[in-house]
Amino acid sequence: MTVRTRFAPSPTGFLHIGGARTALYSWLYARRHHGSFILRIEDTDLERSTPEAVQAILEGLSWLGIDHDEGPFYQTKRLDRYRAVIDQLLEQGDAYRCYCAKERLEKLRADQTENNIKPRYDGRCREGGHQKDAQAPFVIRFRNPHEGLVEFDDLVRGKISTQNSELDDLVIMRSDGMPTYNLSVVVDDWDMQITHVIRGDDHINNTPRQINILNALDAPLPKYAHIPMILGEDGKRLSKRLGAASVLNYREEGYLPEALLNYFVRLGWSNGDQEIFSIKEMTDYFDMAHISKSPAAINPQKLQWLNQHYLKTLNPEKIIDLLKHQFELIGINNIDKSILAELISAQSERCKTLKEMVEKSQFIFKDFEEYDADAAAKNFAHESIVVLQSLYNSFETLENWTKEALHQIVLDYAEHNNVKLGKVAQPLRVALSGCSVSPPIDMTLHMMGKEKVLNRIKRAIQYIEAR
Ligand code: GLU
Repeated sequence: MTVRTRFAPSPTGFLHIGGARTALYSWLYARRHHGSFILRIEDTDLERSTPEAVQAILEGLSWLGIDHDEGPFYQTKRLDRYRAVIDQLLEQGDAYRCYCAKERLEKLRADQTENNIKPRYDGRCREGGHQKDAQAPFVIRFRNPHEGLVEFDDLVRGKISTQNSELDDLVIMRSDGMPTYNLSVVVDDWDMQITHVIRGDDHINNTPRQINILNALDAPLPKYAHIPMILGEDGKRLSKRLGAASVLNYREEGYLPEALLNYFVRLGWSNGDQEIFSIKEMTDYFDMAHISKSPAAINPQKLQWLNQHYLKTLNPEKIIDLLKHQFELIGINNIDKSILAELISAQSERCKTLKEMVEKSQFIFKDFEEYDADAAAKNFAHESIVVLQSLYNSFETLENWTKEALHQIVLDYAEHNNVKLGKVAQPLRVALSGCSVSPPIDMTLHMMGKEKVLNRIKRAIQYIEAR
């Protein structure tokens, strides 16, 4: 049997952490078993679905590198098919029209709640005979069996049994003719030959209902794996803000897709005590047996730690475009690729995100406003003018603007004048960056380029003279 999994987001919001993790697990399972991963957009909720959300979900998945083999299929393009199945269920007697008015159902619900009874439809239209006139609005309900048990072996949770007497006759088509979630999901999982439904455990109560519908249609049952929810750092429900945070926000915040995937894979799954997983390792090892039964708590520090790990270890080629994007966000364009690569190796030790890297490096490409007062007070003495002027002269005549040559100039100056390297490098650093921290001085000089270096030194000399 070829494994076929799917990710079936409702485009009512962005791709958030929970959704991305569900997508990742389904994708990994398909990849691990050389199967297919299907993308399906569950957009039948016309009021809440938006094209922007569809776009954001597609972009989020693509940025993460979670690629699909089939789809995206849009449920709104398959309405005829759902109606055909609903007709089939009606014909078989497994579904019926329900004419109960909204007011009646509301009152029923209120009464049940008041009497501590689980709110459920009382089956008034189940045996027919309540139709007022042909024009009256109706919904269609599935005729759930009254007797017996629905059982399935959840691949994460184990055996789950539900008495049919606990399930009521759910609506499968609304009065506007739109199929409901439970109907369309069943038809799609069937038509798309899904073998493994991997989804959040907020859907676990839907599964027995879906199984009953599949049985009524004589359709094969997929296997189910319900993955535990994600909690906030405090172990409580994930806050709206964090829970809804779009995966693309992480991109804007300067995280790498590799780090996020690694972070997501560990939110609810483990392989011994391994923390770092390349994508290849994830696809080689991912299994259902090691999905945790209990919820996982988010851990932003761990994400930062992973991000820095990947900043330091990935081939800079994989990071360059993302770093370029970060610079563009603050209006710095057209940085040479080789300079970006150099920047990554110069800064990854001291930055956790690309955003931080840009903040700490923007001075290289864009003039800073003013000198950090402490740094200037400490490193700009009147004698610094001589140092800076001499370096200026050497840089000005340097033909090959290489790191090695630049390094040698600074070194030679310190040696010939018998001063410590710091006494030369620090004033130069403040002149170049406006503050007392920067990447190694030779790299800074090299990335900045001759023209800017000379301008900045000139500016520093003028500043010191004016003081
Ligand atoms: N569209 C559903 C959701 O976004 C997913 C349903 C499913 O995976 O079965 O929650």
